[in-house]
Amino acid sequence: MDAQRLLTRRWVTQCALSRICGVCGEALGRPIAFRGTPQEVGRNAFHLPPMHVACAASLRDRPESELVTTAGFEFVRAAREDDDRRPTFQPNSLL
Ligand SMILES: [Zn+2]
Repeated sequence: MDAQRLLTRRWVTQCALSRICGVCGEALGRPIAFRGTPQEVGRNAFHLPPMHVACAASLRDRPESELVTTAGFEFVRAAREDDDRRPTFQPNSLL
């Protein structure tokens, strides 16, 4: 699975609203995994969609990224004045 494909805006939104895994498209259970750069982890705001833990571990083209697990997340759409207009996922119950 190519991480770049996971970042397609329509897919990101569909994963958020349908609560499906960004890699395999199946329903998400708990925990929910996110992968991000150290900066994304620091801000608690991820751009890759939510994933199963095993699916997140299979994303080998992002070796530098860190994996976090959570029981839930908020989907945050960018404000009009934000420089970065991409929506983000903000885990709200880190495990
Ligand atoms: Zn999956």
